[in-house]
Amino acid sequence: MGSDTPSLMRAWAATAPRPGMVLTERPVPVPGPGEVLVEVEACGVCRTDLHLTQGDLPPHRPLTTPGHQVVGRVVALGPDGEAATTRTATADHTTGANPATATTHTIAAGHATTTTHTGVADHAGGGPAADPTDHEATAGHTAGGPVAVGERVGVAWLRSTCGRCRYCLRGDENLCPASAYTGWDADGGYAPYVTAPAGYVYRLDDDAPAERLAPLLCAGIIGYRALLRAELPPRGRLGLYGFGASAHLTAQAALAQGHTVHVVTRSAAARELALGLGAASASGDAPPEPLDAAILFAPAGELVPRALEALDRGGTLAVAGIHLSEIPALDYDRHLFEERTLRSVTANTRADGRAYLRLSAEHPPDVRAVPYAFEDAARALDDLAKDQVSGAAVVMIG
Ligand SMILES: [Zn+2]
Ligand SMILES: [Zn+2]
Repeated sequence: MGSDTPSLMRAWAATAPRPGMVLTERPVPVPGPGEVLVEVEACGVCRTDLHLTQGDLPPHRPLTTPGHQVVGRVVALGPDGEAATTRTATADHTTGANPATATTHTIAAGHATTTTHTGVADHAGGGPAADPTDHEATAGHTAGGPVAVGERVGVAWLRSTCGRCRYCLRGDENLCPASAYTGWDADGGYAPYVTAPAGYVYRLDDDAPAERLAPLLCAGIIGYRALLRAELPPRGRLGLYGFGASAHLTAQAALAQGHTVHVVTRSAAARELALGLGAASASGDAPPEPLDAAILFAPAGELVPRALEALDRGGTLAVAGIHLSEIPALDYDRHLFEERTLRSVTANTRADGRAYLRLSAEHPPDVRAVPYAFEDAARALDDLAKDQVSGAAVVMIG
């Protein structure tokens, strides 16, 4: 490690299964083979951090540091001294394709091609993988390569996958049963330093403010995957239920692709934000027209029947959350007949992450970051729990 790196640091730790989070002192982590050590500038606050600190999601290890939207700089490499990063945002946005086209390609490629890629290459440090879902990114394929000390990177939710199972081999690494997650299976970014497998970090723009980049790494990427899963037709009518960090970025991605966005949320401040960002409507109860697709961001299962009922024939409802309260009984005629589809969204692939970061580089979203000091990370989670954050909370660290 660099001579400037201290040996001890203060880090937040989830006390789950007891709800809460405490500030601890612990050794600065040492990167293992194929890993990088990242000095953290900022870490976005995600509702999943809340579920992990409140015990809605079972802890995978004791006193884990939450946080999986980490912006920082590589300050050391693991003992093998070389590591590949996933391709990134800015380095490979070489095409001038409009984002609607890019999305269509991504969807089509994901369904139509047979993969020749194996994720094993990522683990071997052999360079970025050619994911079958990443058709459009091929032009930037050589932009990956080894990640070096000093580079600015993002550490996101998906920490690692096996690279060998049927899901990994067919390009659905988000479904890998052996996948591991930052801030759940390993310590995350509510700390000055974090380690991560080099093949799973994203190169980030050197100049953008950290608080504007951090929310892209989960709120943005997961929302983008939900948008793909919603399978909107061109110039479609999209409903967003709940309007927090992820929805405010997803709305902008959808608007950039030419869709119409309707927002349904209880929060008056969020409705105002939605309209300010270009939503066609924002209400507390129901969208004003039938929808081609909708994304449920609120972790409220009782909204599922309502959201299905608001879909037009053939419409799709994608549930974006990792945690959802109980879904009431569905009525086949009212909620599902006429080929309405209900589907979940499970994490994301690195291809999703690269595609979203590329879109964000081409159409920079208006990120409504709400910064908190490192010492106030627990308060940031409290505010999120009380729905008092309008935009995306970010813990500022470095
Ligand atoms: Zn796998
Ligand atoms: Zn998240």
